Amino acid sequence: MNVYFIGAGPGDPELITVKGQRLLREADVVIYAGSLVNPALLAFAKQGAAIYNSASMTLDEVIEVMEKAAKSNQTVARVHTGDPSIYGAIKEQMDKLDKLNITYEVIPGVSSFLATAAALKLEYTLPEVSQTVIITRLEGRTPVPEKEKLASLASHNASMCIFLSVHMLDNVTNELINGGYPADTPIAVVQKASWPEQKIIRGTLSDIAAKTKEQSIDRTAMIVVSRCLDSDYALSRLYAPEFGHMYRDAK
Ligand code: SAH
Repeated sequence: MNVYFIGAGPGDPELITVKGQRLLREADVVIYAGSLVNPALLAFAKQGAAIYNSASMTLDEVIEVMEKAAKSNQTVARVHTGDPSIYGAIKEQMDKLDKLNITYEVIPGVSSFLATAAALKLEYTLPEVSQTVIITRLEGRTPVPEKEKLASLASHNASMCIFLSVHMLDNVTNELINGGYPADTPIAVVQKASWPEQKIIRGTLSDIAAKTKEQSIDRTAMIVVSRCLDSDYALSRLYAPEFGHMYRDAK
């Protein structure tokens, strides 16, 4: 294998998978997404590994580094934040590698929306409250398809994790309210989940934007909207005594 795409997790260096860490230790070349990957992870790289920060590189430059390494039989760890399948720009790299016949494997990681739930001690899927998690973002330089506009997603009142949008929190809350979330719906903003400087702000759709501005949070934060943040719920069927299943008989 030439290239390993590794989900590095949300920030805490202990939240990379065992497999991801091993491959990072073994790699001859490391290309990491410097804007978000915790530099502490680079301490795992072996002595003498060539290290590149992709923040200042173009797609073609990244591919060139991979191609050179592959030609000299070196392995590359391409380190992405969280899990590479979510806003990771991984597909365009894989497509180029396919064309060049360079082999690769993807190692999943702990996405920041999961570290955010952990920080909030939140279950996104409470029975009779929400059984759906929507991962989305507000339109920025990357457009969002018409049918996925925040207001129309909001009409479901499902749990929502909104990436890449905290700097536009006013727009986010307006769209959510326009889309049908009541203004008192609980919402939380978690900045740098799992990092030592993690910050949590809780509020409602009507007051979160002001609270977040007060704390000068305008990047690397997850927005979570969900009735699950504060709500009565039904107990799960999984552990209910009167419900049996494959591993346990009903009482
Ligand atoms: N692939 C990454 C997401 C990359 S997009 C993942 O799976 O997490 C970058 C966005 O992710 C940021 O704008 C922010 O919304 C979110 N993000 C990344 N790391 C975060 C963290 N530690 N805490 C909160 N949000 C984070």
